[in-house]
Amino acid sequence: MRKQVVVVGGGQGGLSAAIYARLRGHDVMLLERSGVLGGKAAGIELSGYRLDPGPSIVILPRIYEQVFQDAGRNMADYLRFQRLDPISRVCFEGQPALDLPAGRAEIERLVREIAPGDAPNFTRLMANLDHVTPHIDRSIFAHPYDRPWQLADPHLVAFAMRFDLRATYKELVDGWFQSPLLRAFFYGFPSYGGQTYDSKAPGALMIPYLMLQEGVFYPEGGVSAIPAAFERLARELGVEFRTSANVTKLKMDGPRLGGVHLESGEVVAADAVISNVDRSTTREWLGDIDRRPPSLSYFTVHLGVRRRLPGLRHHTLLIPSDFERGFETLYRHRQFPEPPIVYLNDTTSTDASTAHPGCTNLFAVVTSPAEEDHLDWAGDYRSRVIATLARFGIVIDEAEIDFERTQTPTYFREMHGNYRGSLYGVDEKSRLFGGLFPLRNRDEQIDNLFYCGGSVQPGAGLPMVTLSGRFAASYL
Ligand SMILES: Cc1cc2nc3c(=O)[nH]c(=O)nc-3n(C[C@H](O)[C@H](O)[C@H](O)COP(=O)(O)OP(=O)(O)OC[C@H]3O[C@@H](n4cnc5c(N)ncnc54)[C@H](O)[C@@H]3O)c2cc1C
Repeated sequence: MRKQVVVVGGGQGGLSAAIYARLRGHDVMLLERSGVLGGKAAGIELSGYRLDPGPSIVILPRIYEQVFQDAGRNMADYLRFQRLDPISRVCFEGQPALDLPAGRAEIERLVREIAPGDAPNFTRLMANLDHVTPHIDRSIFAHPYDRPWQLADPHLVAFAMRFDLRATYKELVDGWFQSPLLRAFFYGFPSYGGQTYDSKAPGALMIPYLMLQEGVFYPEGGVSAIPAAFERLARELGVEFRTSANVTKLKMDGPRLGGVHLESGEVVAADAVISNVDRSTTREWLGDIDRRPPSLSYFTVHLGVRRRLPGLRHHTLLIPSDFERGFETLYRHRQFPEPPIVYLNDTTSTDASTAHPGCTNLFAVVTSPAEEDHLDWAGDYRSRVIATLARFGIVIDEAEIDFERTQTPTYFREMHGNYRGSLYGVDEKSRLFGGLFPLRNRDEQIDNLFYCGGSVQPGAGLPMVTLSGRFAASYL
C-alpha cells in the first residue's frame, strides 16, 4: 500500500531513508529543522574557507554506490572519489613522522620496518579480517538485527569464531602488538562506534582494516558532496523537502502515529514516520525521558590559518608519548582525554579550493565524552588542543588565524538533536542484546515509527547511517 512517509531530519541517514522509502513506492516528505540538508556532513562557508565540520575520513564508497545502483543510476554521474595516498600521517611524539601508504603490501612492509616483532601478528590479523569481511557484508551491513534468535546467523557466528570473545579489545590489541605506535593507532577505533577498548569489540577492527585494505577517499568537492549527491538523487526520485521545519512533537492517533507537529503549530500528517534524529531525543517528543548514560562524542576546533602549515597530510594523527593516560582518562574515567590524541584534517593538502591561496584549512578533532554530569563543556578545552599541537611543533600565532570555530557535545545536542551530545546515542551497556548491537531501527511500541542515523543499527559514521536509512525503510 502506498503510504505518506515523513522523514524527520535530513542528515545522511535521513536522505538515504527518504530515497529507499521512495524506491518502495511511497510518497515521501523530508522535514529538516535547519536551512540546509546533510546534517553533520553539511558544508559551511566561512571567511572564504570551505569547511567540512563533521566527517572527514571517508571509507567504503561502495556503500554509496549501492544506493545509486538500487535507484538505477550510475554513481559517477553524481559523486566522484579520489583515493588518498598516504591514507594518513602518524606523528608519534619524539619520533619521525610516518606516512601510512595506500596499499596492503606497502603497509605490511612498513610494519615490518617499524615494528618487526609485531609484523607476523599484523599480517595474521589482516588475513583474519580478509575472511571476516564477506560475512560482515552479508550480516551487519545487510539487514537489521531485531530478535535474539537472529544472533545465530551463520555469518555472525563465522565472524565471532575468528576472535577470542572473552577478551576485551585492549587485551586483543596488547596481545598482538608490543609497539606503542601500533597500540596507540588501534586503541582509538572502538570509539568510532561509541565503545571503549574495555569493550568486547572485535568489530571495531573492521575500521582500520577497511581503511588499509579498501582505502580512504576524498570526494570531489569535499565531504559535503556526499549528502549533496543524495539530495539530488532524492529530488529526482520525487522526494519532497521542507527545510526550516522544526519537529517538536509526534502526533499520536490512538496507538499509532498520525503525523508530526512543527514548531509553527502546523501538523504534517503521516502513515509512517522515520526519524533521523537520535532515538532517545525522538522518544522525548512522546514524553518518554531517557535517563541512560550517553555514549561518546567529539570536541573540535576548526582554524583558518593565514599560511601553509608544514608537515601535515590530508589526515594526520598526533599521538603524545603518554597516550596510554589519554585513553585511560577518556575510556575509563569519561573525562576529556589528558593528553588528547588529536586527529587533524587539512583539506588544503588535497583541495586548494577549500582555503584562500597559501592558507591552511585546519580541523582538529578529539574524541571526548558526551554531556556527562561531571563535565562542563563551557570550559576551555580549546587551549588543551592548541597545547597538544605545540607539543608537535605546530605553533599558530593568534594573529594569523582568519577564523576559529569550535564544536562541543552541547553543540551537537542543540544543533543536531543528539542525546546528551552523544554521536552514538545511549552508552553501549544500554544497547541491544547485552550491548552487542546498537538499538533497533523500529520502535518497540509504535508500529509505524522507525529510526535511522547514528544512534541505531548498524551504527554511526557516514557509510553506516546510509545503511541505516535502508534498514529503516525496509520496515515500511
Ligand atoms: C566531528 C565529527 C567527526 C566525524 N568524523 C567522521 C568521519 O571521519 N567519518 C565518518 O564516516 N563519520 C564521522 N563522523 C560521524 C558522522 O558524521 C555521523 O555519524 C553522521 O553524519 C550522522 O548522520 P545522521 O544522519 O545520523 O545524523 P545528522 O547528520 O546528525 O542529521 C540529523 C538531522 O536531523 C535534523 N534535526 C534535528 N532535530 C530536528 C527536528 N526537531 N526537526 C527536524 N529536523 C531535525 C538536524 O538538523 C540534522 O540535519 C563524525 C562526526 C563528527 C561530529
